[in-house]
Order: sequence, then structure tokens, then C-alpha cells
Amino acid sequence: MSDDETVEEYLFKIVIIGDSAVGKSNLLSRFARNEFNVHSKETIGVEFQTQSVEIDGKEVKAQIWDTAGQERFRAVTSAYYRGAFGALLVYDISRRATFDNVARWLDELNSHSDTTVAKMLVGNKCDLENTREVSLDEGKSLAESEGLFFIETSALDSTNVWTAFEIVIREIYNNVSRKVL
Ligand code: GDP
Repeated sequence: MSDDETVEEYLFKIVIIGDSAVGKSNLLSRFARNEFNVHSKETIGVEFQTQSVEIDGKEVKAQIWDTAGQERFRAVTSAYYRGAFGALLVYDISRRATFDNVARWLDELNSHSDTTVAKMLVGNKCDLENTREVSLDEGKSLAESEGLFFIETSALDSTNVWTAFEIVIREIYNNVSRKVL
């Protein structure tokens, strides 16, 4: 880097929410470390990982938080949401109940965040086409009616995982740049 280049650092918190076992941890481990785990973790607690993406030639870092099991006890705390610039709200396309619960997660997210938070509805496990219970159109129309970005992903085969995070990070970056400029 040349001396006259200014160093700008961006670090944004993003939270992942949604029902148990929809694939939140695996989306994060796929994005941050390109890893996938067949077995669900048993640990309870909050964990985060950081990953950088390049946007408009700038390195933008995301600190991405995973509920790591807290949601099993309906115990995702306000500390978890605090300071978040973005959120991925995940359901499992092969389990309708997880889609039905999106409204509840969205209410909780909205009660902890303002309208500038970049929100993405994520239909995960799109590799499970044979056991699909939620159509692509249902996901799309829910997202449209709630003003969310929407994407289907597979943490298993990597489909759209990077894109999902990148869209949210880009939106955050654009929101922040608009405020600063
Ligand atoms: P979390 O409880 O929401 O964090 O979910 P996990 O990431 O622990 O995943 C729950 C289970 O779903 C695990 O057995 C994973 O291997 C599996 N899983 C996660 N993502 C996918 C995916 O995209 N496709 C398939 N087929 N299985 C997945």
C-alpha cells in the first residue's frame, strides 16, 4: 500500500437467527472457514467469527454472531442483537415449521433493531429438493411483503452462501456510506 493511501477500516456486526437446526452454525462455518459439520453442536453460548469481503476496493470485515443453541430455550438475549448492522433470518426449506416461525423471529429482530438494519431471509438446505416443504415462491413473497432480501442457500454444497453474506455486507456498507457522506 502506498503512503498516501488512506486506511479505512470497517467492521460490522451481523447476527444469524432462526429455529434450531436450520443450519445457522454451518452457514457461518461455511462462510468463515469453508467448513461443514454433519453433527449439530451441543455447546450452548454465543460465538462469533469474522470474515472480510472486498467491496468497491475496500476491505469490509463482518463479525458474525451465531446463537449457538440459545434459541432452543427461546433465550436469545437483547445483548445478542445489540449493535447489529445486519441479520440473516434462516429457515429450513425442508421443514415448514421453521418457515412458519419466521414471523416470530422477525418480530423479535424488529423489537431489538431499527429499520436501517439490513435483513436477509435465507431458505437454507436447498440441496434437499426431494424433501422440500417450502417453495421458492413462498420464500420470495414473504420476503417481499416484509421488505427483506431473499436467497436460498445450501451450507452443505456451498450454494449461495458467500452471496448471502456479501449482499448483506454490501447493503450495510452502502447504508453507512450514505450516512457518512
Ligand atoms: P443450527 O442449529 O441452526 O446452528 O444448525 P446446524 O448448523 O447445527 O445444522 C443442523 C443440522 O443440519 C446439522 O446436522 C447439519 O449438518 C445440517 N445442515 C446444515 N446446513 C445444511 C444444508 O445446507 N443442507 C443439508 N442437507 N443439511 C444441512
